Amino acid sequence: MRGFAERVDVEEVQLFLRTHARPLESEAVDLLSCAGRVLAEDVRAEFDVPGFARSAMDGYAVMGEDTFGASAYDTIALEVRGESLPGKPFSGRVERGTAIRVMTGAPIPEGADAVVMAEVCEERGGKVEISEPVAPHKNVGAIGEDIRVGALVLRAGRRLRPQDVGLLASIGVRAPACVRRPRVQLVVTGDELLPAGSQPAGPRIVDSNSVVLRALVSRDGGELLPFEILPDRPEIIREAIQSLGADVVIVSGGSSVGTEDHAPRLVAELGSLDFHGISMRPSSPTGIGRVDDRLVFLLPGNPVSCLCAYEFFAGPSLRALGGRSREWPHRKVRLPLARKISSAVGRTDYVRVAVDHGKVTPIATAGASILSSTVAADGCVIVPRELEGMAEGADVEVLLYDDELPDGAAP
Ligand code: AMP
Ligand code: MG
Repeated sequence: MRGFAERVDVEEVQLFLRTHARPLESEAVDLLSCAGRVLAEDVRAEFDVPGFARSAMDGYAVMGEDTFGASAYDTIALEVRGESLPGKPFSGRVERGTAIRVMTGAPIPEGADAVVMAEVCEERGGKVEISEPVAPHKNVGAIGEDIRVGALVLRAGRRLRPQDVGLLASIGVRAPACVRRPRVQLVVTGDELLPAGSQPAGPRIVDSNSVVLRALVSRDGGELLPFEILPDRPEIIREAIQSLGADVVIVSGGSSVGTEDHAPRLVAELGSLDFHGISMRPSSPTGIGRVDDRLVFLLPGNPVSCLCAYEFFAGPSLRALGGRSREWPHRKVRLPLARKISSAVGRTDYVRVAVDHGKVTPIATAGASILSSTVAADGCVIVPRELEGMAEGADVEVLLYDDELPDGAAP
């Protein structure tokens, strides 16, 4: 057993991942499951929407000119020749002195150029009496008023919102080209681990890392492959790291330099161990490497370290592979520190903090094994390596764990 000879800076690792995690190829994704996916190509409309002039009101399609001069005291009567319903147009023409009953969304018959709304009409005996004039084009939705054929409607890189998918449906798209989601193989190692859902017993603890990682991978758009908890046995870990079909391998536990920490050596043997040991707290025993064309993240087993190393390295890479932004996905707030944060120059710190009455307090029990510190926290503050710490009263940026603002943090 030997300690780490030297540790690299977080920025150096991030730079490496910037060049090695690039968007995957595209795949056609069924329209009904593409919300939240990232478009791989620009989308242009192949249809006008609407493709026909349509009524924006329930009322009567007329020649606007026919209604000029109409008022409540001096109504104008037009002969009603038929009806146009959504999907069931009237086949004839509107001629002078005539009108066609129309419903919202129904095609405007030929000859008509306006719709008088039902509220100012009274129909009786085959005639409609109109008590208000309507100008030509009024209450008529023109062809292409929503989307013009040929228009660029969504750009490559767009993360599809629900309404985006609706728009794609409206222009007749069936399966847009989206960036493929990265497939992730979790390799959870530790002889002491019981599967989630068990009760802790004697020296055995329940695996919580894979539970956290599963949710983080899903947040970041990855697709988790099936996995099991593995013992600290090199031949078994070796096989798991070589898992076919994965774009990314995330190993939890056994990433350091202990006698039971096999993964770093195995990655070096099977491919390259590009980094091992990073100047940060927690998570310094993190390793990053490549096996074939898969990125491998060796995350320490300590739950806070595991979470933090994921957030710094695996998360941004997964998002980048899936065509998303590498930026922290957290909502951010700037607030003053209620107590100073101590760090060390040359080291990046991930400090769990609580936000209370608009002030930021670092959480005292903050060891790498104390998962409850992340539960008690509202978010974290990153202390960059240039700083020795952050003074009481200094404004700091908090990456919030929730989308909602904690009490007293409102801007
Ligand atoms: P390791 O990185 O394997 O040396 O583990 C460091 C610490 O994290 C030990 O106390 C382990 O028992 C604990 N640990 C390892 N894996 C997990 C896991 N999947 N869930 C919770 N704790 C873990
Ligand atoms: Mg272990």
